[in-house]
Amino acid sequence: MNRSDSLDKLNKVSQWDIIIIGGGASGLGIAVDASKRGYRTLLLEKYDFGKGTSSRSTKLIHGGVRYLQNGDITLVIESLKERGILKRNAPHLVRDLSFVIPSYDWWSSPFYGIGMKVYDMMAGNLGLGKSIIISKEETIKLIPNVNKKGLKGGVIYHDGQFDDSRMAITLALSADSKKTALLNHCSVEKLIKDKDEVIGVEFKDTISSKKYKVKSKVVINATGVFAEEIIRMDQPYIDKMIQPSQGVHIVLEKKFLKSKHAILIPQTSDGRVLFAVPWKDYVVVGTTDTQIKNATDEPKPLNEEIDFILDNASRYMTLKPKKSDIKSAFAGLRPLAATSNKKSTKEVSRSHKIDIAPSGLISVLGGKWTTYRKIAEDAINAAISINRLKNKKCKTEKLKLAGYKKIVNWNDPMHVYGSQKKKVESLGGVNDNKSLSNKFHITNNIIEWSIIHEMALKIEDVLARRTRCIFLDAKESKKIAPQVAKKMAKVLEKDQEWIDEELKNFNKLIKNYMT
Ligand SMILES: Cc1cc2nc3c(=O)[nH]c(=O)nc-3n(C[C@H](O)[C@H](O)[C@H](O)COP(=O)(O)OP(=O)(O)OC[C@H]3O[C@@H](n4cnc5c(N)ncnc54)[C@H](O)[C@@H]3O)c2cc1C
Repeated sequence: MNRSDSLDKLNKVSQWDIIIIGGGASGLGIAVDASKRGYRTLLLEKYDFGKGTSSRSTKLIHGGVRYLQNGDITLVIESLKERGILKRNAPHLVRDLSFVIPSYDWWSSPFYGIGMKVYDMMAGNLGLGKSIIISKEETIKLIPNVNKKGLKGGVIYHDGQFDDSRMAITLALSADSKKTALLNHCSVEKLIKDKDEVIGVEFKDTISSKKYKVKSKVVINATGVFAEEIIRMDQPYIDKMIQPSQGVHIVLEKKFLKSKHAILIPQTSDGRVLFAVPWKDYVVVGTTDTQIKNATDEPKPLNEEIDFILDNASRYMTLKPKKSDIKSAFAGLRPLAATSNKKSTKEVSRSHKIDIAPSGLISVLGGKWTTYRKIAEDAINAAISINRLKNKKCKTEKLKLAGYKKIVNWNDPMHVYGSQKKKVESLGGVNDNKSLSNKFHITNNIIEWSIIHEMALKIEDVLARRTRCIFLDAKESKKIAPQVAKKMAKVLEKDQEWIDEELKNFNKLIKNYMT
């Protein structure tokens, strides 16, 4: 991954096979699929890879227990299959996590127990572990902090957990470099049309402020919650297609869960499910489902969403978290497909749709991280179906992703680099691997690696997506930001003015993660 190489290719390629707009789970998945099929592929991301919803998920690779409750069987079967494929193809990033559903009445354990057995069966031979009903004593042993008042027992089931933005970077690294150019900080501003056909895009490199016009056989719009904005560049008068729904998570210290198992709270006060999930020495708790009118690039948790999570989590935990205990809070926007009837967003299906416009513009609508590979396959097949691309077979089902490594030490924060870990730790023959913080793991070598090999250009790119510092502890991230800026300036050969400007922007951004 090298940005100047990618920029050079713009002058060499007169017509790309595919241009992808958006560098989240869907767009990066499409880039991997397209490049492995042998198509010349250009991906343009307005900010940074994974900047949108794809770094703000619950971090589960799951079939979706809740979708089972909603009767969305096709989505659950598809997601369970993809869960198995992803765990097989990226074992260094996806792990098996057991979830405990605590029961507080006599019928819950048998009810959820049967439901989870069905879930296991649907996964077939790609299942992770068997679900079982457990006693009250076993539930307390597994989750010592669970609220014991009225506790009757529980159910254990298994799903996958991952690091979403590291997976996004891994996908970027997995795209075939000869056939592909990936560019972050490049915003698509216009579609180029020939008569009624979309044949390319105009974009601005926001680092150099330079504008480009690029052409391709097909343009794929994978901009998540902003997909409608791109479609309107082609068809200004279409009906509403996307209903944004905000989901918030809070991050707490490990002491609030004190377990290696996650908790699934099956019935919140608004009839949804809530997760408390151990993640990188912290606990992630969420989420909400708040309909919002207009999507923004940097969504902010609402006070009522924070209160809702604290209130519902407190009912199930003996150590009750308060606002002052929150280390970080983050909001993501679900790009749910708009429906004409008046369903609440929690009822709108999370399955994806591929829209083919009369102009040939292909748009991905909705979807989940778990199914990114299938979304990508469907999007490219759609381009083949309208004769924009030569027919070539999808090759991602058995594709080992970058850094593939089977034996993983999940307690080592460097596991996200998989087989590259040693290279990061001895970058340029220098072992600068002392963490800049005692709250999370970030070293000078990691910062340099992020810039040289993973295209990080801003403090936010390093602290939010190459590492997960902002998501784990916002205050601590603010504290170490000056050191990160200094190291980045050295590697990128920038001056004090750059450092000051970067820190100014970063200190403004970090407020969104503080409550
Ligand atoms: C709260 C929450 C929790 C979730 N939890 C899970 C989970 O645990 N497991 C799971 O499987 N799924 C989960 N999901 C769903 C999953 O995260 C999303 O479906 C997925 O990340 C969407 O990816 P995307 O690529 O479509 O969109 P995004 O990640 O939003 O990517 C779109 C990209 O397009 C870019 N862009 C926009 N406009 C332009 C432009 N003009 N030019 C260039 N680029 C542009 C944006 O900057 C952005 O990076 C969750 C979603 C939410 C909101």
